This record gives sequence, C-alpha cells and structure tokens, in this order.
Amino acid sequence: GRFFTGFIRDLTEREESRARLHEVQSELARLSRLNELGEMASTLAHELNQPLAVIANYAQGCVRFLKDMDDAPAARLREALEETAKQSLRAGGIIRHLREFVTRGATEKTPENVRTLIEEAGALALVGSRELGVRSVFDFAPNTDDIQVDRIQIQQVLINLMRNAIEAMRESDRRDLLVRTVRDGDRYITIEVADTGPGISDELASRLFQPFVTTKAHGMGIGLSISKRIIEAHGGQIVAIRNGAGGATFRVSLPVPEKETADAG
Ligand code: ADP
Repeated sequence: GRFFTGFIRDLTEREESRARLHEVQSELARLSRLNELGEMASTLAHELNQPLAVIANYAQGCVRFLKDMDDAPAARLREALEETAKQSLRAGGIIRHLREFVTRGATEKTPENVRTLIEEAGALALVGSRELGVRSVFDFAPNTDDIQVDRIQIQQVLINLMRNAIEAMRESDRRDLLVRTVRDGDRYITIEVADTGPGISDELASRLFQPFVTTKAHGMGIGLSISKRIIEAHGGQIVAIRNGAGGATFRVSLPVPEKETADAG
C-alpha cells in the first residue's frame, strides 16, 4: 500500500516536473529564436541601410539625368529608376521596422532566488552531458539575496554558457564543469561557469562577445553577444578568463537590489 502510494506520487511528480521542464524548454527555445532574430535583424539593418540608401541615391541621380530627355525609352527608364529608388527605400523601412519589432521584447523583472535559477537552467543545459563524460559540480554561496531579473533571459545566458562549456570539453581528457556563486561585496553576486576545455585564445578573447564570432563549423556566434546584451541590460557584467586548469571561466556579475536599511540604534 504505502510503497505503491509513494510510487504513484513519485511518478506523478516526475510527470509534473517533466511537463514543467518541457514548458520551460519550449519557452526558452522560443525566446532564444526571438533573440537570435533580433540580433540578426539588428545587424542586418545596420549593414543594409547604407547600401540601400546608396542605391536610392544613384537611382534618383539617374532620374534627374534623364529628366531633359523626352523620348519614349528615356521616359520608360525614368519610371523604372523611380520605382527602383522607391523600392530600395521601402526595403530599408521594412528592415528597420523588423528590427524595432523584434528588439522591443518586453523584459519582465521579478525577484528570483539565484540558486533556483541556476538549478533550473542546469537541469536543461546538462541534458545528455553525463553520457559525454562530463562531471558537473554546483557550489552555492550560502544565504544569497534574491536578484531582480528577467528569469527566462538570465536562464538563457546560463544555459548558453553551460552548453558552450560542455561543447568545449568534447576533446578534453578531463571534463569538469563547475558552476558556483560568489558573493561579491554587498552589491553584486557573481555566477561562475568554469570548464576544463582548451580555454580561449588571446586572439579570440578580444572579439568573443561580438556577434557572428564563432569557431564552430555550424555555429552562429550569436550566443555570447546576446548574453552580454542581456547581462548589461540588467546592470551587470560578463567576462571570460583563463582558469587554473587552462579552461575558460565565464563570470557573470549581477547587482543585488539594495535592502531597506533598518534604522541603526
Ligand atoms: P557559437 O556557440 O554559436 O559559436 P557563442 O557566441 O556562444 O556562439 O560562442 C562564440 C565562440 O566562443 C565559440 O565558437 C567558441 O569558439 C568560443 N567559446 C565560447 N565558450 C567557450 C568555452 N567555454 N571554451 C572555449 N571557447 C569558448
């Protein structure tokens, strides 16, 4: 009886947490697609605006040039060039609009427990990692205050860092992932994600957080640039350093909301 009841409860709980995991996972996937879109739209808009404006300018110049010729072919050309200028300006407008649309993304900040945040992110990021021979250790500073963050965004950053770490250790003999929190004075809490992979070369280090920087055959090179944007939007900082094992350590510092100071005395 008891065993069976316990068993059923376990199963139900497991089903529930699996459903919840699934929910979080698809939420994250959606957000990550949105963010990647935003980053691409933003970069594209920036890169394309200039040439599109130049096309419009040239076309308008040609229209002026053809103005004084009034034979039929010149009129046809003028019309076509006017349309070219119009459409190229329109393309610029569409891209700008897309950029605004995808980068507006509402952020919703709520008080979050740092440990819960990391554990949930870890549950997703570490799927399949044990089979890859990765040993994961979590180490939490005691009694840390809640932080005021957009949970999904911060979890996306952490998942990204952990997945990168696991991927970096693929060829390493030692595959240790250490995620820990460090109290950084009263004002900040630092989350560290450290691996025993090959680390980051000096050459890469200076460009690491720029969009489209990747060393992977199928990488997009967008994860770290989004991560930086998210962390800075939270008033925090993200840096990468070489750790004692020769691997990479990513340090994410986030501000801790000031406490209502009780009257001294
Ligand atoms: P992607 O994973 O698509 O390449 P990222 O922006 O997440 O995009 O990472 C950019 C690059 O930074 C990676 O291609 C890799 O070269 C390097 N990198 C990221 N994390 C690590 C790590 N833990 N160890 C070594 N290199 C890393």
